[in-house]
Amino acid sequence: MPLRRPSLQDVPVMFWARGLILADARGSDCGRAPAFGDKLAIIDNSGSHSYKQLYCSSLGLAVAQWAAWMSGAMAVPLYRKHPESEMEYIISDSQSSLLVAGHLYAETLEPLAQRLGLPCLTLPPTSNLGTLDGADTQESETGDFTDWADRPAMIIYTSGTTGRPKGVLHTHSSIQAMVQCLVSEWAWSRDDVILHTLPLHHVHGIVNKLLCPLWVGATCVMLPEFHPQKVWEMLLSSEAPLVNVFMAVPTIYSKLIQYYDQHFTQPHVKDFVKAVCKERIRLMVSGSAALPLPTLQRWEEITGHTLLERYGMTEIGMALSNPLKGPRIPGAVGLPLPGVEVQIVMSTTTNTTIVEGNHRETQVRQGLEGKEGELLVRGPSVFQEYWNKPQETRESFSDDGWFKTGDTAVYKDGVYWIKGRSSVDIIKSGGYKISALEVERHLLAHPEIIDVAVIGAPDATWGQKVTAVVQLKKGQSMTLPELKTWAREHMVPYTIPTGLVLVEEMPRNQMETYPSTVLAEGRQKSLT
Ligand code: ATP
Ligand code: MG
Repeated sequence: MPLRRPSLQDVPVMFWARGLILADARGSDCGRAPAFGDKLAIIDNSGSHSYKQLYCSSLGLAVAQWAAWMSGAMAVPLYRKHPESEMEYIISDSQSSLLVAGHLYAETLEPLAQRLGLPCLTLPPTSNLGTLDGADTQESETGDFTDWADRPAMIIYTSGTTGRPKGVLHTHSSIQAMVQCLVSEWAWSRDDVILHTLPLHHVHGIVNKLLCPLWVGATCVMLPEFHPQKVWEMLLSSEAPLVNVFMAVPTIYSKLIQYYDQHFTQPHVKDFVKAVCKERIRLMVSGSAALPLPTLQRWEEITGHTLLERYGMTEIGMALSNPLKGPRIPGAVGLPLPGVEVQIVMSTTTNTTIVEGNHRETQVRQGLEGKEGELLVRGPSVFQEYWNKPQETRESFSDDGWFKTGDTAVYKDGVYWIKGRSSVDIIKSGGYKISALEVERHLLAHPEIIDVAVIGAPDATWGQKVTAVVQLKKGQSMTLPELKTWAREHMVPYTIPTGLVLVEEMPRNQMETYPSTVLAEGRQKSLT
């Protein structure tokens, strides 16, 4: 049956568009996003309602995303820093039929589109696009979306830290569920102003930082990319719009701390930073990777904010979160968000449940509290399927419909803790199961270590040996015996690294959450 061409009223995202987007409000190539109707006309007129869209850029991306949805298409966000081969992989894998490029990237993308035999639509510069300020859009315009709910909306590719990125297909309703649970749990309101610094090709950047504010009609100030000085300027600025919400991955917080330590040395500046952050900012969130304790503690000293750590994935949106109000336990990821159910199972084959919990209560079988297992998740925000990968999709769900995250978790002291990925972060050495994440957490407390990735290097005797890849502070040096001496005072003996590799700078993936797979593979080889 041919798709009915939707009118504005049909599209659920229309009432998300009540918000105001400002692109780099105090930067040079700023400007405001387009009037919703204007911009949509461009793509809508192309009659592309059976297209899937691909696009690169920030503001243009937000606009193209709505345009894609308006035309009944799926959106596949790309990242402009993806190497060309990665873009090509995602474009081909998703079987996209149209490429939409921000004007700055036309030069790269047009030849690529040509090579792939795809049409390429280049968006005009954002400063020419007017304002996306649909604050007066009436909610009654949202119409009846029942037939939209289960329609595919986006294919978001995973970070690819455990293999090739997988296309995760979300429907309009799973995206809506992701947004609604965060909006209620983190108390988003239209008075909020979020500073957006993350790439827009991941759930963190798209859902948590763009769709949530737009859903409630809040303001989203977008920086084209992360720069520590610029972020500090925006957080501390006395010019409207005054930022009161910030969210980032742990690496960004640690880069902001490094900048602070280098540049904000005078006591009155430190006092100013703390006063502004404490008084003005209502919420600071960390996620997408484990938040190291030293980062959490230092951030608290500098800003007076205990970062709210949460846990989520491309496949499920956000699942576990520390509370907005009430105590946040360092190193833990809190409790299930509304609508989310979780289980920790010791073995997915025998399906032995050890912990089962939802937003309100968690039941722990006697004697099983504190036992590690795989985290399983169920709820309306869970994705529909891995694009074109029916077998992987089947294998990633249990028989009774729980999504297997592949992450190891534990329930202890009334909250959930993530111990790492079952597949790659659990090192098996001499019969011990060691969480690479835990070892990293300990090593980051070393005064000379700035960044670390811990891996299990193949070893004939031990199976794997705990090996630390370390970036030191400038001008510092370290030998393995020195590291071991320090570690003996701080760490469980069998978790102490027996291998050390020093690197100038830790290469990370595009989200800056994990060391890039390429590096990890290379290291594995060079370490054997
Ligand atoms: P791929 O699935 O392609 O290997 P990926 O899992 O890194 O890539 P994402 O969906 O971007 O892709 O990342 C989700 C993962 O990030 C989770 O499975 C978990 O391992 C990790 N993660 C997210 N938040 C946290 C957190 N607060 N603490 C620890 N790990 C986290
Ligand atoms: Mg994953």
